[in-house]
Amino acid sequence: MSVSPEEFMSAAPKAATGSSAWAARYASDIRRAWLEHAAQAPRTLQQHLGPSELGVECDRQVAGKMAALPETNHVVDPWPSIRGRALHSEAEDVFDADNARTGVLRWLTEHRVTPHPEHPGTADLYDAVEQAVVDHKFLGTSSMAKVRKTPPRKYRGQLLLYGLGYYLEGLPVKRVAIAAYPATAGSLDGLYVWDQRFTGPDGEIAPEVVELLTEIFTDTERRKRQAEEITSGRARLNDIPASPDNDECYFCPFYRPQAAKDGGTGCPGPGKVAAVS
Ligand code: SF4
Repeated sequence: MSVSPEEFMSAAPKAATGSSAWAARYASDIRRAWLEHAAQAPRTLQQHLGPSELGVECDRQVAGKMAALPETNHVVDPWPSIRGRALHSEAEDVFDADNARTGVLRWLTEHRVTPHPEHPGTADLYDAVEQAVVDHKFLGTSSMAKVRKTPPRKYRGQLLLYGLGYYLEGLPVKRVAIAAYPATAGSLDGLYVWDQRFTGPDGEIAPEVVELLTEIFTDTERRKRQAEEITSGRARLNDIPASPDNDECYFCPFYRPQAAKDGGTGCPGPGKVAAVS
């Protein structure tokens, strides 16, 4: 999904609709309950980030999160994340029930792993039969298409970090996989799995896996230094190099297109900041 600043702003909350004046008011009230509940969900802004956040390509976003800066993106719609949380919860039930039905302890669901002492996280699924670590992604149409082409670096990084967590626990990890579900489609037929070897026949972690994990840990150390610059007052958010990307910016807690005009808080995002290599 490509989103221009204008489209972003036009996504600001609108009134829900209905078949009558009462129904429209009632729709707004129902919508309010969902939005207020979503706003109570555990905050994503935290100093010790989990595997899902470390592979993001933008230094500015990750350093800002590490510095626990206040969110400035008040426009992003919470519906995709509400849907994602609900489906993740259902997925846990599905695979636990499969263990119970077959009488085989094949699936390990929602298990805490520690690929880095400061960055633990909860991995969706381990398959003891295939010796595979699986991450569920519940995606809309354009994100599904992207995963079919090449999954974003942050997805691959997250998956490899979960794989490393299991590997460090001593479990065999031959393979890691993204199970991409067509969350907005009418059937499961579009389910797509992307996979990568994690260890070779010798049981050692594959070189291409080591390469991306090393990059992510190097990025993380640099971003901790950048966060320290922010918290100490030596730098502001917009002094940190950015890698703007339409899709990533739309969901970024610091995206605020108006910052390009008023110079206020938040990151102006795509087209307004210089990309860095
Ligand atoms: S809005 Fe985009 S460029 Fe700015 S910090 Fe967020 S992801 Fe980076």
